[in-house]
Amino acid sequence: MSDRLSVSSKFDTEETASELECLPFGVHHDDEGVCLLVRMGPHRILLDCGLADVSPLVQGLKKSARRGSSPLPADFVLVSHAHSDHARGLLALHKAFPLLPIYASEVTSKLLPLNWLEQDNQEVAPFCQALPLRSPVEFKEGLVAEIFPAGHLPGAVAILLTYTTQERSYRLLYTGDFFLSNSRLVEGLRLEELRGIKLDVLIIEGSYGTSRHPHRRAQENQLAERINRAIAERCSVLLPTPTLGLGQELLMLLRSHHHFTGRDLNIWVDGTVAVGCDAYLELLPHLPPSIQNFARHQPLFWDERIRPRVRRMQPEQRLDVDNPCIILTDFTADLYKYCQSNTGSWLTLFPEKTNIKINDEYLQVMSVETYLLAQHSDGPGTTQLIHNLRPQHVIFVHGSPTYLADLTSLEELQNRYHLHSPAAGTLVELPIGETFLQPAAPEANYEGELTELGTVVTITLPDAITADPRWRHFADTGLIEARWQGEDLVLRGLSQRELLNQNSDRFTWSDLDCCGTCRHQRGQRCWNPASPLYNFKVTLEGYCPAFERNTEKNSES
Ligand SMILES: [Zn+2]
Ligand SMILES: [Zn+2]
Repeated sequence: MSDRLSVSSKFDTEETASELECLPFGVHHDDEGVCLLVRMGPHRILLDCGLADVSPLVQGLKKSARRGSSPLPADFVLVSHAHSDHARGLLALHKAFPLLPIYASEVTSKLLPLNWLEQDNQEVAPFCQALPLRSPVEFKEGLVAEIFPAGHLPGAVAILLTYTTQERSYRLLYTGDFFLSNSRLVEGLRLEELRGIKLDVLIIEGSYGTSRHPHRRAQENQLAERINRAIAERCSVLLPTPTLGLGQELLMLLRSHHHFTGRDLNIWVDGTVAVGCDAYLELLPHLPPSIQNFARHQPLFWDERIRPRVRRMQPEQRLDVDNPCIILTDFTADLYKYCQSNTGSWLTLFPEKTNIKINDEYLQVMSVETYLLAQHSDGPGTTQLIHNLRPQHVIFVHGSPTYLADLTSLEELQNRYHLHSPAAGTLVELPIGETFLQPAAPEANYEGELTELGTVVTITLPDAITADPRWRHFADTGLIEARWQGEDLVLRGLSQRELLNQNSDRFTWSDLDCCGTCRHQRGQRCWNPASPLYNFKVTLEGYCPAFERNTEKNSES
């Protein structure tokens, strides 16, 4: 349903119609991580390797390597950032294919070893080569890669691949995990760097689906407020986080928020989060100028002198902490060991919408709450990036299937792009239309007002909306259909024809611009050479910019 092009053939079939294909080995619907094999003409590029178990990937790659002429299963690997859901399989992959080149940004290449802290250093000899930011590198003849900072985590990049044939260039961008806002230790992705690149394919993460987040400052204040209240009630606070990213952000927040600056309070850092802090210290020249400036006056993390004090926890201190205090540790640690009864009362704060799962038993016996400090783009940010890039195809990965389905069912996207949300193992063919007109960017949003009176809800909208010629269509019958899409309520005007057709299916295409009402669609196949869908099997609710209405009656039957 969400994948609007039929994708059935295997990746290594001989007769491939299109120059571009994407075979996902992992799309991070649940915890499996991201790993995508992209083919551009004769080149095969592996994007990220976040699989916990790489054996299916290694088997598949070995098989195709045997069939092909190349001794290597892919030409090379590009890594978007150092989080484990994108990187944890790299070491095993490197061991299976020691000659397979692996590249990432300089910062990522330095953070990657933190994924294998339990292995000794010998085992994790550096296998990743550093790429410069914003500099095109020709990896193979006709194949260029360029990386752009993507926010989210120091070193995280979006990867732009350009494949040039005699006829034209094909461009594919993979966002990795991205965030448009500045956070404390990393600047956001800069839209203006990517605007106007004439993109054909965008592979984008959809972690938060269509939901909208409060402004980052508001999220920070809410969290600081809650911690402040706990401390005032002499309750210590435990913050489990991943090794990299969120934990260091929290430390910077606690050190600079007015609730805490100058207070006689200990912030203890334990587990791999402390190792992550050490890694950040090595990367100081790559962090934002504001952080470098801060670090000129006081240590970035370990500081016994300036209050609140940030201290690395020693194992013997776990049973004997001052009360109240704040502890940051990695979420895989045994959390009970911190919250012993002799150390007073405890509040555990878990980050919302992350891979961190809360153990049921822990929930029952401990006092637990959640907070939002987003590290990924929210729904409006995601659609904003897509509309700025205006690709022909958008492939959504990295998010629960329901969240990704919320995105692929957005009409503002469906009307403009070919949307895909493939499962792992499903090949996505990416036919590129030569005559494709880049769709216009969508219009502004309108603000309205909501009034609830008894059982009636009234929605007031500005006049500008009724000035649009589409309003007549929307208001045709005075009846609307309302339906939830994630957190959003979608309103749709019902037309006369739909009311007449109510006895048939809930859905009718008669009023929609879609393949079902296009004169070039016959037998569920596209016959329009000007369409990127030409010769492909199409779904009737699909759409492409070469749409032309079928004027014959009963076109939808
Ligand atoms: Zn990440
Ligand atoms: Zn991720």
